[in-house]
Amino acid sequence: MSRILLVEDDHALRTSIAAILDRNGHEVVAVADGLAGAQVLRSGRFDVLLLDIGLPFLDGWRILDDLENRRSMAVIVLSARGEERDKVRALDLGADDYLAKPFGADELLARIRAVLRRMQPVAQSRVVQVGAVTVDLSAHVVLRDGVEVRLSPTEYGLLAQLAMHAGRVVDHRTLLTEVWGAGYASQRNYLRTFIQRLRTKLEPDPRQPTVIVTVGSRGYRFGGPSPELVGGGHGQLRSGPGPTDTRSGTGIGGGDTLSG
Ligand code: CA
Repeated sequence: MSRILLVEDDHALRTSIAAILDRNGHEVVAVADGLAGAQVLRSGRFDVLLLDIGLPFLDGWRILDDLENRRSMAVIVLSARGEERDKVRALDLGADDYLAKPFGADELLARIRAVLRRMQPVAQSRVVQVGAVTVDLSAHVVLRDGVEVRLSPTEYGLLAQLAMHAGRVVDHRTLLTEVWGAGYASQRNYLRTFIQRLRTKLEPDPRQPTVIVTVGSRGYRFGGPSPELVGGGHGQLRSGPGPTDTRSGTGIGGGDTLSG
C-alpha cells in the first residue's frame, strides 16, 4: 500500500480518482487547492503526489517548483492541457510523469504502479563507479566525490538502469521501456530531459559528459566501454576510464524490480 496525495480542484474528478485509488488499496489524502496541497505536503510523508496544474491560490507549477529537494516521493502531473510544452515543463521541473486529461482509471493506476516500482530498491548487491560518481545499487545511494547526490525516483531509476549495464550501450527504447513502461518506447523527450538532469547533477562538465556518455544515435553508456568490449574485435577505443564494478559477496543477480 502506498500513501498518495491528490491535489485537484475539480470536485467530480477528485472524488472519482480518490475512490479508484482507495478501491485499489492506496491510502489517499485529497485536497482541492494548491495552498492546502502545499500545507499537507509540509506536514506529511507521501509516496506519490498526483498534482493538477490549474489550481486555486497556488498553481501546480509553484508546488512543483518548491519540491526541488524532495527525494523519495514520485510526482505525476495531471493537466487539462495536453500540450507538449507543458509536458516538457513538468518534466523539467522534476515531475516523474505527466498525464493529460481525460485519462482512464487503468492508465492512472498503471502510471502509479510504474513510479512506485521505480522507487523499489534494486535487488542487486553491487557498487558501480565511474570517475567521481559511485552508484550503490543495493543501498540505493549515489555519491559524487563522496557526497550523497539527491535524485528523484525517476532520475535514480534511469541511472540504475545505466549503472547495471555499466560500460555497455543501453539503447533508447530499452531505457524508456524499463524506466517508464511499455507505452513509452518512443518518448525520447522523457529520456533527453532526464539524461540532462542527471548530467547536471553528476558530470564535472555536463556539456562534455564522461559519466553518462551519448553513443551516437544508439543510446547511452555509463562510463567508458567495459574492458571486455575494448579490443574485443569490434575495434572500439577506450574513451576514458571504464567503470569499476564491485560485487559484494552477498550479491545475487536477477529478481530486479526495476525491469519488471
Ligand atoms: Ca484544475
